[in-house]
Amino acid sequence: MNRKGLPEDEVFSILDRALQKDRSYDKVLNAMCTRPHPVAVKAHMQFIEANLGDSGLFPGTRELEEKVVSILGELMGDRNACGYISTGGTESNIQALRTARNLKHKKHPNVVLPESAHFSFDKIADILGIEIRKAQLDSEFKVDTGSVENLIDDNTIALVGIAGSTEFGQVDPINELSDIALSHDLFLHVDAAFGGFVIPFLDKKIDFNFSVNGVTSITIDPHKMGLSTIPAGGLLFREEACLLPLEIDTPYLTIRKQYSLTGTRSGAAVAAAYAVMTHLGRDGYRMIVNRCMRMTHRIVQGAKEFGVEPLTEPMMNVVALDVPYIDTVRKKLHEKGWMTSVTRKPRAMRLILMPHMTEENIEVFLSDLRDCIS
Ligand SMILES: *Cc1c(COP(=O)(O)O)cnc(C)c1O
Repeated sequence: MNRKGLPEDEVFSILDRALQKDRSYDKVLNAMCTRPHPVAVKAHMQFIEANLGDSGLFPGTRELEEKVVSILGELMGDRNACGYISTGGTESNIQALRTARNLKHKKHPNVVLPESAHFSFDKIADILGIEIRKAQLDSEFKVDTGSVENLIDDNTIALVGIAGSTEFGQVDPINELSDIALSHDLFLHVDAAFGGFVIPFLDKKIDFNFSVNGVTSITIDPHKMGLSTIPAGGLLFREEACLLPLEIDTPYLTIRKQYSLTGTRSGAAVAAAYAVMTHLGRDGYRMIVNRCMRMTHRIVQGAKEFGVEPLTEPMMNVVALDVPYIDTVRKKLHEKGWMTSVTRKPRAMRLILMPHMTEENIEVFLSDLRDCIS
């Protein structure tokens, strides 16, 4: 740290230079986050001081959090769901499995999840000392429930289903996983970090949330397709008793107990989530999801016109294209400013059509993709 402080304008000119190095979202096709909605940004700034780690000082913000949890619960099929607003999908997944581990009391616990699960579960294995067993996928990149059943044993504490997989945007058969979980008395955690704000607004009805009996907890992130500011993740439980294993006495705070993994916690992100959800409403999100799906279908159709097929027809606004010479093509696209990513197995070009993308830019991308391939 410098001994003497710099004048404000010098500080901000340093910040401006840093910001200029950052990428604008215009040509970003590999991110699950996006530009937050202006209403979320405004609310975030208004609540910038609020710390929900010590919510006795911020009872108004705490009320907003209760409202956000109840709105998310209703969206996920149970308005009485309980939980809290976390820093994101990773924290929510950690905490869901921590609850399962602490309630099940197994000496060598394991969790069965699809191969397509987000890498946060590999962190969880290490942090919580849980063995992670990866079940195979079927030809549509959903988990193969036969493979799940084969991996269950006496030490299994939970199953995880993905509703909107990070790589393929696929939804596991949550109904079937629920039957398996109920018959073995296992927790069933649904990771809808991405899909939670997409699936309810699709034309096709898909069972994936608390409306399915065996689902015990859900991760749903306002900071992805919820258009809220970072960091806003949601962790929901069907039963209040599931929060108990997460409770910690907080002797020197204004509150008695805390459930979150983090201590100090952004109230700004909670106000932002409340503001944008209340402002957009179901109709607003449906319009946004419809637009993302239109762009997704256009990419698939446009790519097919020059012989590039998707690995599977996309369920949501995530598509994996079977692009030839993928590494070379991605490098060439990168030179034109396009950010793309790849799926692990099989390797394909992974594109996410987030709300920051535009119909015009999709046409530019398609023409650049065609040029890079030929
Ligand atoms: C993004 C994502 C996560 C991780 O969420 P973070 O907010 O990045 O911690 C977990 N699961 C799924 C399915 C995701 O798409």
